[in-house]
Amino acid sequence: MARPAAITAFPKKGHNHKACGAHAMAEAEAICRNRGARLTDLRKRVLETVWHSHGPMGAYDILARINAGGERNAPMAVYRALDFLMEQGLVHRLTSLNAFVGCRHPGHQHSGQFLICNACNDVAELDSDAVGKTVTKAASARGFTPISTVVEVMGLCPNCRGS
Ligand SMILES: [Zn+2]
Ligand SMILES: [Zn+2]
Ligand SMILES: [Zn+2]
Repeated sequence: MARPAAITAFPKKGHNHKACGAHAMAEAEAICRNRGARLTDLRKRVLETVWHSHGPMGAYDILARINAGGERNAPMAVYRALDFLMEQGLVHRLTSLNAFVGCRHPGHQHSGQFLICNACNDVAELDSDAVGKTVTKAASARGFTPISTVVEVMGLCPNCRGS
């Protein structure tokens, strides 16, 4: 499955975001099917909601959107769905914002390197082996054994820089 360009880089304004969402859902279904993991209706809808945009979304915003049609899902149900999606590597949690984004490169193990735009909130993933290795090496040099190396970089995306 070829990923739409808007998924892996910073999305152009006005791109066809339906294609991003549809692609993310198809990829998630294929990954879960291969692993025998159950993408239940609620899990699916939580993932769809996270993919509503390229920006991070807090758990309560996710809950509010899912319940907007009159349903009464409890916060815990949404948290459990998010836990599942994180375990499957379909969603990442941005600790600095306490919010969630859909993974741009699901299906292989990575701890997450995020570029977060301060102006529009869009997020892209670096997914650079070199960055991970550099952090691990520098940590090891200090006698530290890293378990995960999540990198969150704040700044301005190409759209907001106006170039
Ligand atoms: Zn998009
Ligand atoms: Zn990812
Ligand atoms: Zn931006």
